[in-house]
Amino acid sequence: MQETRYKTLKYIRLSSADDQKNGESDSVANQRRLIDEYLKNHPEMEVVGEFVDDGVSGIVFDRPSFNAMMAVIQDGGANCIITKDLSRLGRDRIETGRYLRRIFPAFGVRFIAINDNIDTLNDSTDGLYISVKSIINDEYCRDISIKTRSALDVKRANGDYTGGCPVYGYVKDENDKNKLVIDGYAAEVVRDIFRMKIDGYSSAGIAKTLNERGILSPMEYKKDRGLPHPTGGYADRNGAKWCPTTIIRILSDETYAGTLVQGRYGTPTYKLREVVERPEVEWHRIENAHEAIIQRHNFDLVQKIMRLDTRTAPNGDKVYLFSGILICGCCGNRMTRKTVPYKGENYYYYWCPTGKKNGCTESVMVKESALIDCVTANVKAHITNIASLEMLLSGIDATSIARGLADRLAGQIAENESRLDKIRGYKASLFENMMNGNLSKEEYKSLKGKYSQDADTLMAANAKLRNETEAVLSCRHERMAWTGHFTEYQNLETIDRRTVIHLIHSIRVLGKRDIEISFNYQLEYDTAAELFSKEKGAA
Ligand SMILES: [Zn+2]
Repeated sequence: MQETRYKTLKYIRLSSADDQKNGESDSVANQRRLIDEYLKNHPEMEVVGEFVDDGVSGIVFDRPSFNAMMAVIQDGGANCIITKDLSRLGRDRIETGRYLRRIFPAFGVRFIAINDNIDTLNDSTDGLYISVKSIINDEYCRDISIKTRSALDVKRANGDYTGGCPVYGYVKDENDKNKLVIDGYAAEVVRDIFRMKIDGYSSAGIAKTLNERGILSPMEYKKDRGLPHPTGGYADRNGAKWCPTTIIRILSDETYAGTLVQGRYGTPTYKLREVVERPEVEWHRIENAHEAIIQRHNFDLVQKIMRLDTRTAPNGDKVYLFSGILICGCCGNRMTRKTVPYKGENYYYYWCPTGKKNGCTESVMVKESALIDCVTANVKAHITNIASLEMLLSGIDATSIARGLADRLAGQIAENESRLDKIRGYKASLFENMMNGNLSKEEYKSLKGKYSQDADTLMAANAKLRNETEAVLSCRHERMAWTGHFTEYQNLETIDRRTVIHLIHSIRVLGKRDIEISFNYQLEYDTAAELFSKEKGAA
């Protein structure tokens, strides 16, 4: 009957003192007996090996026998692992999840945890069940930390500001201490900081510029104005200057785009004592909670720049023209700039640092000056294309363009709806899991809260998308707003970092004379071009 045969490895882990709870029942002999009992009823599984980790903690995954077992898997010597329960595999939720969702599937491995009724052949490991189980195995997690959080969380969910000292650029509203209002002077400095970033300054460069201008650092400014500020420790130091860390913190703070983000930091884990940043899904985000200092478009642009800015010029204050954007067509790595001095002159090249040993066979090197010429010509041509496309489209029935855009928005709405359904399903199964004893009451409450919050976020997103759809369908000028990002550069002669960041998504270097530029708003461009050719065909 059974056609597939599974080359099976038994994995047994004897708990170490630090996570030993069940004592006798977890002995090696008992685990082995249980597994053998199970195998009797599963003739499709053929045992090819057994691995025992004796007294090694479930927290660490660097266990001798576990590693040896994974080596067998990697060599293709087995495609099934069987354990007594999930906690044999590991007690660290994130690592366990990584094995279940990524590593085992990647090697086509079937994983069975007998006492937990887990068999990846039958269930989708993506579901709630595994994550619930894993949380329970994270036994030190049953702590008071979840409880202490919740009181403030209610306030946060209402969009009320709960922090003590508002970020630089805002002050508390005098009439409503739970709201933030703009502090005119500091807000102007914040705008300067974002502007400089868009213009290609590094964080160090921005800090230096502000210090040169004699602008007080946030801490000094708050002290000077008698605004609330942190005290004690480093805060008591006098004359604190702007530093790159402060700049980065400001540039990545969504508060400036009008969104209230709270609950970012906490001491959520029993593994670390210090305050750490929580995962983004646990943050409380309320959009348009207060007036924005930075427009959303520019804020997003800066986030993109910072993702690209991994490498700044070692000596200069600016990043290189193509930093982060230039991709090696052979291996996909980001290319690095280097200076080659020759006869008293400096020449600049971009090259791929991967190397032949690590899988890049081309090792292309391009001269920066040649690249600039080529990219400039291409950017100019693209802008001209868009300008004429914009003109041609202005003659096309606006409703058909609007409909095209509305369709795309509808697709996004539908996707959010299906995610919502999933979350509601997870939420519905929580109660059952608590009744089964898979979840403690605390965990049940906490997960329920989290799912409710996720659902709220999605519903809010969809409400926003529906508004946008309405705007698109009723308002003519909105429809091609993106072209403005290009046509404002119509008289461009040379390219700088700002142009590159604004217009180009990435440049793949395929060979010495072969590059492939992918522009921003490529999807909008393609949609518009397609629409135009359709209209032309119909006419
Ligand atoms: Zn490469």
